[in-house]
Amino acid sequence: MIINKLDIREQNEATVLKAIIENKNISRANISTLTKLNKASVSQIIKNLIENDIVEEVGIGDASSMGGRKPIQLHFNGRCGLVLAFDVGYNYVTGMLAYLDGEVIRLEERKNTPINSENILPTVQSIITNFLSQAPVTPHGLVGISLAIHGIINDNRITFTPYYDLSGLDIKEPLEQLFSVPVFVENEANLNAVGEYCFMTTGDYQKIISLSIHSGIGAGTVANGSLQSGSHGFSGELGHSTLFPNGKSCPCGNKGCLEQYASNRVLFDTFAKLKDLDFVNSDIFAAAYNAGDVDAIRLALENVDYLSIGLNNIIVAEDPELLIVNSSVYRKIPDLLPRIRRKMVSRFTQSITIQTSLLGDHAPLYGGIAQATSHFLKIQNLRLGMLKK
Ligand SMILES: [Zn+2]
Repeated sequence: MIINKLDIREQNEATVLKAIIENKNISRANISTLTKLNKASVSQIIKNLIENDIVEEVGIGDASSMGGRKPIQLHFNGRCGLVLAFDVGYNYVTGMLAYLDGEVIRLEERKNTPINSENILPTVQSIITNFLSQAPVTPHGLVGISLAIHGIINDNRITFTPYYDLSGLDIKEPLEQLFSVPVFVENEANLNAVGEYCFMTTGDYQKIISLSIHSGIGAGTVANGSLQSGSHGFSGELGHSTLFPNGKSCPCGNKGCLEQYASNRVLFDTFAKLKDLDFVNSDIFAAAYNAGDVDAIRLALENVDYLSIGLNNIIVAEDPELLIVNSSVYRKIPDLLPRIRRKMVSRFTQSITIQTSLLGDHAPLYGGIAQATSHFLKIQNLRLGMLKK
């Protein structure tokens, strides 16, 4: 959600549009009161927004019960354009085509294919071509593409991917040349946090952290509507905090990193080895846990022990109001998160709300939609509100 400096006219336009988005149906007079912009400026901005199909008038001239005329209400036309978001995992690519407001049009998954620097572009390109051949016609068409990468991203550049080799790859430029729209490349955990902020939280939370647990463990932070990614893009790389001095080696170059003990990948691999299974995922693991398998229970409780240390560490470093845990294991075994909560006894962690993600596996896709939409609308702290369930 990095947006170039806007001039005053653009800032005012963003302020008015944000008021319309966050207040659903609102009149010109109320926008003027809310934004402290004079009525003439508000009217001019709204005229432009209507001409560009971004805002629509509703309820024109309806008679109220008092006999007068209801003021014309305005609302955001979420269907005025399309965005595309991708989650690029180490062995899958998921694409989502949606309207600007997050209403999903299509979802496509390419599973069980190891992703590398040779096949990533053709895979993404073929999904985009599929989507666009059947996409609905909108006034603005496709306005942006976002890619969630499970690794370190600095200013749209992939600098390090520990579990697949995309390091140094430029995917932004070739996609921009092919499709002539802005392309955003961002860390998956960061996009999870953007998605949660934009679609799932209310205005009360100013600082949220989303903890993303898959092959690695990453945390994304949104403070006052802005993504905090650090000086080199690795802010929130919680998986590489040290859990055991001189412990297991990690691709980052260190030893004893948290994600070598507490990631879902490690949990599944350890369980597969113990049970002599070829493949384990969260469904298989949760089924074993719920059936009372002693190995699954022991590994799950060990995971709770390790993760509660990680959560404690990020809370004391970041002091968030809300911490969202996004893990398929913790979603499918609901009694694990309360166990983490009970382990966190420090006075610093008591006032923090900890909950599982409702966006689940699609959180980075919703984050990507939020990122591309906020760029198109030039609204930095975009909050589109709760998704229709
Ligand atoms: Zn590491």
